[in-house]
Amino acid sequence: MDHTTTMDGPVHLPLPDREPAPAEGCPTCGELAAWREADRRRGDMSAVTDRNVEIRRHPHGEGGR
Ligand SMILES: [Zn+2]
Repeated sequence: MDHTTTMDGPVHLPLPDREPAPAEGCPTCGELAAWREADRRRGDMSAVTDRNVEIRRHPHGEGGR
């Protein structure tokens, strides 16, 4: 066993600007995106991440079954 302890190779972390876009015509997503920007301005990046998750999971009112 002689594993060298180097850093991992090129790891592509998700860039902060690769965020889900709010669905067009979905008022909830529009609000989430607005709150996300407000959170970002406050420097609250964990809240920004939460908004991104919410936008990604939002069903956008389609069917809603
Ligand atoms: Zn939505």
